[in-house]
Amino acid sequence: MKIGILGAGQLSRMLALAGMPLGIEFVFLAPEQTACVKHLGAFVQSAYTDESGLKQLADQVDVVTYENENIPVASLEYIKQHVACYPDEKAIAVMQDRWLEKSLFTKLSIPTTNYCCIDSVDALMAALPKYDFKGVLKTRCEGYDGKGQVVIRSQEDIAQLTSMNCQGYLLENLVPFEREISIVAVRALSGECRFYDLNINVHRSGVLYYTSNAPDDAIFAKACDYMQRILAHLNYVGVCALEFFQVGDELIANEMAPRVHNTGHWTIEGAVTSQFENHIRAVIGLPLGDTASVGPAMMFNILSVMPDRQQLLAIEKLHLHDYQKSPRPSRKLGHVTGVGLSDLAISKARKEILA
Ligand code: AMP
Repeated sequence: MKIGILGAGQLSRMLALAGMPLGIEFVFLAPEQTACVKHLGAFVQSAYTDESGLKQLADQVDVVTYENENIPVASLEYIKQHVACYPDEKAIAVMQDRWLEKSLFTKLSIPTTNYCCIDSVDALMAALPKYDFKGVLKTRCEGYDGKGQVVIRSQEDIAQLTSMNCQGYLLENLVPFEREISIVAVRALSGECRFYDLNINVHRSGVLYYTSNAPDDAIFAKACDYMQRILAHLNYVGVCALEFFQVGDELIANEMAPRVHNTGHWTIEGAVTSQFENHIRAVIGLPLGDTASVGPAMMFNILSVMPDRQQLLAIEKLHLHDYQKSPRPSRKLGHVTGVGLSDLAISKARKEILA
């Protein structure tokens, strides 16, 4: 059995590392070969829009999946003419455009931020009074990790926006959240859904920095209900992630991703079956694995610089995942995970990663 993956970053790498023990081989397609996937399978060097490259991939695999929601919908439609491809392009079409995403939340009665489309500075200035002159301006497409976002809190922030080209943006209210949480779930070809324990997420400058799982969280059932509505509506196959802001006992949906997710990386050691293995199982029609946590789990992202391996792995129960990328400011180079770490071990890990 061979799986084709559109993408060659760390998510593709971890999908392959999870699928290999099941006897599955991988073929990656991306514009450039990368160190992340170099030794993990065959490689087709191609633009995501190049039909000859896509056909070359489709011809040598049993199913195609992807690691990134910015793959053009037309490319997935093309692949589907030759081989099965999951998740369906309907999911990617919705999740690559924040306005369509928020509109789907509204349609499925899932609470979300107050949002409106912005296509010019005049439209922004006209909308701001309704938002009490505070909000977050986000690009509708291709924004991630806080990129393409401007937080508006003051008249000075607004003054800076007047010179901006505001075409293709979404304005939403600034949510005074108590926690940022996400839920990662998997849906099989049969329609069966399984949910991982909630993730409690901490961001720095818009980038995920720390996640811990929250077994038995009081708001888990609500998050599952909202996620289930989306998965059923999209007839989804594979792993999907949904991020929320929590205010009291309300969950306000922020965004979702049609793929394995950074906030689910703790599942590699922290759940009976990782999100990566379950995605593989789902897209090739194998029975889903148990999503239960094996204990209190946590994950730190490693950004910009790799910490000292010796110091890091001297911390009891810590696991290192190095994506083999060359260092660059703000780049995700790897992550550490651990199950059942003491508070002292977690604070040592934080120190090593930030050092
Ligand atoms: P996003 O790319 O939408 O996930 O945003 C990145 C981060 O910016 C989020 O994880 C939040 O920490 C913050 N953020 C985004 N939108 C809002 C909002 N409407 N209200 C408050 N914080 C936000």
